[in-house]
Amino acid sequence: MSEGDSSTNQRPDGRAVDQLRTVTFKNNIAPYATGSTLIEWGDTRVICSATVEESVPRWMKMQNVEGGWLTAEYSMLPYSTLDRKRRDITKGKIDGRSQEIQRLIGRSMRAAVDLIKLGSRTIWIDCDVLQADGGTRTASVTGGYVALSLALAKLQADGLLDCNPVVSPVAAVSVGVVNGVSILDLPYVEDVAAEVDMNLVMNANGEFIELQGTGEKNTFSDGELATMLAHGRKGIAELLELQKAAIAEG
Ligand code: UDP
Repeated sequence: MSEGDSSTNQRPDGRAVDQLRTVTFKNNIAPYATGSTLIEWGDTRVICSATVEESVPRWMKMQNVEGGWLTAEYSMLPYSTLDRKRRDITKGKIDGRSQEIQRLIGRSMRAAVDLIKLGSRTIWIDCDVLQADGGTRTASVTGGYVALSLALAKLQADGLLDCNPVVSPVAAVSVGVVNGVSILDLPYVEDVAAEVDMNLVMNANGEFIELQGTGEKNTFSDGELATMLAHGRKGIAELLELQKAAIAEG
């Protein structure tokens, strides 16, 4: 099978190698949050919310760090997976994977805003997975940015913020290699079969915020990497447009 040949590559859901699953946003799903959206990305669904707290973490005050802060929490609801996933509170310890993912979401959101312009406040981005079918971290970043933008618009509408602190919109997508073919946006069935698994976080200037790439079962070549990045760029461009439309709806 030749690399990237969509005619010979049968994906389980019939998508082309560089085709995203359907992505939609249902805004204001959590009315008490400052901004919220339910991102539905194929069968992966994540509730993303942004809540504003009019104070900054202690370490910022102690170190006289100017501006605001943005941080994230991620969790999978017990019924989001086929086998019930026990809550961290029941297990008595924080899941390492969740911790890694929430740090990624936090870094991605901080890359989207000018923290000085945000002012002396903290924004919490909470991402709770309702249904997991691969790509929950990329859905969290992509939906988290929409929730954040809705919250920033509310702060401006309420006269609490006099300018938009967004530096550049941010979105994320997965790419990988399955059966020797580079593909975009892996659901669970492809994720478990992937020889290479990669997550891209990028901004609207086409710059990378984070690349998490692993040869799970195989090494990967320059050529495969280039194809994955090309698919990723295409996916990110489409996601940025979908985000823009969702934010405009308010
Ligand atoms: N998954 C699961 N239970 C877990 C962790 C993962 O069922 O405790 C599934 C879920 O469908 C998830 C997929 O495995 O989306 C891939 O997980 P990964 O850690 O690669 O993160 P993701 O692709 O969700 O960002």
